[in-house]
Amino acid sequence: MQTYDVAVIGGGLVGCAAAYYLAGAGARVALIERGGINQGASGQNAGSLHFQLEHRLIQHRNTLAAELEHYVALTQMAIAQWRDLEAELDCDLELGMHGGLMVAETPAQVELLQQKAHIETGQGLQVELLDGVRVRRLAPYLGDTILAALFCPAEGHCNPRLLTPAYAQKAAARGAEIFTRSPVNGIRRQSGNWQIEIGAGTETAAARRLAAAAVLNAAGAWSPAVAAMANLHLPLFPVGLTMNVTERTAPLIPHLVQHVGRKLSMKQVRDGNILIGGGWSAHLWQRDGKWHAERAPVIDPTSVYGNLAVAAEVVPAVETLHLVRTWTGTTGITPDQLPIIGEVSRAPGFYVAAGGSGFTYGPSYAQLISELILKGETSFPLAPYSPDRFGHINMFMG
Ligand SMILES: Cc1cc2nc3c(=O)[nH]c(=O)nc-3n(C[C@H](O)[C@H](O)[C@H](O)COP(=O)(O)OP(=O)(O)OC[C@H]3O[C@@H](n4cnc5c(N)ncnc54)[C@H](O)[C@@H]3O)c2cc1C
Repeated sequence: MQTYDVAVIGGGLVGCAAAYYLAGAGARVALIERGGINQGASGQNAGSLHFQLEHRLIQHRNTLAAELEHYVALTQMAIAQWRDLEAELDCDLELGMHGGLMVAETPAQVELLQQKAHIETGQGLQVELLDGVRVRRLAPYLGDTILAALFCPAEGHCNPRLLTPAYAQKAAARGAEIFTRSPVNGIRRQSGNWQIEIGAGTETAAARRLAAAAVLNAAGAWSPAVAAMANLHLPLFPVGLTMNVTERTAPLIPHLVQHVGRKLSMKQVRDGNILIGGGWSAHLWQRDGKWHAERAPVIDPTSVYGNLAVAAEVVPAVETLHLVRTWTGTTGITPDQLPIIGEVSRAPGFYVAAGGSGFTYGPSYAQLISELILKGETSFPLAPYSPDRFGHINMFMG
């Protein structure tokens, strides 16, 4: 049986980037993906690099104050990584960091922006509150309803179809072995190692068994099922999300545009299309009373209309553009909205890196979990994200 230092389960951004950092530090790595590289959320997302606290997080500013400060603090690392990423991976990622605007349309939303700016600047994130006049000077494409916006110069966009394959390719060049079409269907502890059972894949791969000193569960929305193979509960829940893209148009929106009180993210990609999303739901399938996240969520027309309506109110020029495609993707959220990153104390050698805004922070999550696996410590504290904060749900798991 082949033995590795680390078996990484999941060929999304987090798994591929972790394989890259682990292999770069000299570890023998097996990266195991049940389908193809980048087939999960990492290849379906909006590609926003949103370093400002998102709408979904700022709502919890009173109950999660310390956690949100910690969250913003990680942006310094993420921004530095993103600035170097094309050079580091030696490829064009269609990366643009031209700044992002989080807009407000009501006085209450402007106040929320002020509170948000206070948290963010307190952690060293560069943001600036612009009144209506200054916003329109910077972003004349915004509609008349915009009263103010918080500008973060580092925000931007990257093509999600390029990043994860680039990490996978460079991980392989560093010696990581990549097994695709290889669904992990069993994990157990034996003789001080983890044994990983891989079922026969849908196309070419044969069933096999690997051994590894450490396992990294980087299976995204499917990480609870992978944790269950190691007899662990993991409180992460699948969520179906909707994305829309318009036809190409002349340069219109140079920034990432988000809304502090409504679900919206917009940006124009290099080819001229405008991507519109922001957390609008899509229906997850169910089977036998359980979520069936193996199939792409079903498009909900209400989400599509709702998303496009908000987009057209914020940027009126998009109203005349044709919608060319709508798609859905599945991501995972935790009860406290924060990612789960760290070792599970009751299962030494079993690590998790899942949840959170995993595209923006995926490279950072991957680097930090790699440090933890190899050195037992990290250059940025991961304690608030530890799986052990939910340890009580595993106390009867034997
Ligand atoms: C529509 C949408 C828009 C989003 N927009 C943004 C955004 O703009 N910015 C942002 O920061 N985040 C965004 N996100 C979230 C972001 O995409 C995810 O947090 C991130 O991609 C998660 O990466 P991952 O590697 O953890 O998971 P994934 O990319 O989902 O990868 C997990 C992989 O594990 C594999 N796997 C599962 N089970 C097994 C098994 N048993 N054996 C082997 N392999 C297995 C899967 O096939 C999959 O390839 C969005 C998500 C969606 C769905």
